Amino acid sequence: MAAIFALIQHKNGKADDTVAELCMAARKIDASAAVTAIVMGKASDCDAVAAEAAKYYASVWKVASDAVAYPNAEVLRPMLVKLIPAGSIVLAAFNPFGMDLCPGLSVKMNAAYCADVVGIEAVDGGKLIVNRQEYAGQVYAKMSVDLSGGAVLTVRPGVFAAEDVPQVSGAVADKTADAGAAPSAKRRFLKVVEAEVGDVDITKSDVLVSVGRGIESQENLEIAFELAKTMGADVSCSRPIVDAKWLEKSRQVGTSGQTVKPKVYMAMGISGAFQHLGGLKGNPFIVAVNKNAKAPIFQVAEVGIVGDILEIMPILTEKIAEMKG
Ligand SMILES: Cc1cc2nc3c(=O)[nH]c(=O)nc-3n(C[C@H](O)[C@H](O)[C@H](O)COP(=O)(O)OP(=O)(O)OC[C@H]3O[C@@H](n4cnc5c(N)ncnc54)[C@H](O)[C@@H]3O)c2cc1C
Repeated sequence: MAAIFALIQHKNGKADDTVAELCMAARKIDASAAVTAIVMGKASDCDAVAAEAAKYYASVWKVASDAVAYPNAEVLRPMLVKLIPAGSIVLAAFNPFGMDLCPGLSVKMNAAYCADVVGIEAVDGGKLIVNRQEYAGQVYAKMSVDLSGGAVLTVRPGVFAAEDVPQVSGAVADKTADAGAAPSAKRRFLKVVEAEVGDVDITKSDVLVSVGRGIESQENLEIAFELAKTMGADVSCSRPIVDAKWLEKSRQVGTSGQTVKPKVYMAMGISGAFQHLGGLKGNPFIVAVNKNAKAPIFQVAEVGIVGDILEIMPILTEKIAEMKG
C-alpha cells in the first residue's frame, strides 16, 4: 500500500478542525497505515500545530519558514513535490486551501486526482473506490481512483467523524531543509481581512434556528426570531439570506461563513448544500423543515418535517411555549 500523507491547514498557531478528519479518512483507506501529517508555516506556528497533529498521526513532518507563513499554493506545491515520495496518496480538506493547492499538486506529482470525497469504500486491485455527491447532493457517484501513480484527494470537511480517531503520541521531524528553498511566486499574499463581528456570536450558541431561502421574505424573519426567542436560541442563516442583505454576514453558517457547533440545529427552509453543511460541526441534533421531501438536508437530519416553514414555525413556537408553561 502507498504511503499516505495529510496536509494540515492551520490559522494563528491552531490546526484546522480537519486535522483529525483527514486522519480518519486515511484510516478508511488503510487502517494499518502509518500516516504522515505535513505542517508548513512560520516557525512560531509550526511547533504548536505539529504538536496538535502528533496527537493523531504517528509521524508529523514540519516545514518551518517565514516563506510559507501564508499557504500560497504556488509556493507550497513545488516544496511538497520535493518532500512527498512519488506514488503516495495525499489528503487535504476540500476547502479553499485544498481546492487551490491540490489540482496542481496532482499534476506535478503525475498522480490521480479526486475532489470533494464524501466516502471511502475500499481499495480494490490497485484502485481506490470513493464516493462523491453530484447535483447538489441529490445523487451519490461512485468513483474508481487508479493508485498506480499515487493520488491526491480532497475530503469534504465534516464528513469523517473526528471523534472516532484514536489518539497517539506521534514523532515530529523537521523537514525544512528537505523541502528546499521556497520558490518565488507570481501571486503574493498582502493581508488578512477578518470577518466582521456581529451583535450575536453564533459560534457560541447551543441552539440555532437557521433560516434559508424558504423564508421567502425579510418580513417573515420575525417568525424565526419568535421561535428562537421561545427556544432560547439564536438565529442563523444560509448564504442567500446574507446575499439578500436580510441578515448580517456574521449569522451565515457555512464554508464561506461561520463554523458552528450547536447541540440543536433547526434548519428551516434550507436545502442542505454542502457549502452550508460544511459549517456545521460537532454532530448536532438537526431538525429540518422543508417543502421538498427530496431536499438533501433530510439525509443528515435526525427529525425531518415535509411542510411549509411559514406554517410550521408558528406551531412550534406555540407548542414550545405551552410546554414551558
Ligand atoms: C464558494 C461557495 C461558497 C458558499 N458558501 C456558503 C456558505 O457559507 N453558506 C451557505 O449557506 N451557502 C453557501 N454557498 C451557497 C450554497 O451552495 C447554496 O446555494 C446555499 O446554501 C443554498 O441556501 P438555501 O438552502 O437557503 O437555498 P436553496 O438551495 O434555494 O434552498 C431553499 C430550500 O427551501 C425550501 N423551501 C422553499 N420554500 C419553503 C417553505 N415555505 N417552507 C419550507 N421549505 C421551503 C426549498 O424546498 C429548498 O430546499 C456557497 C456557494 C459557493 C459556490
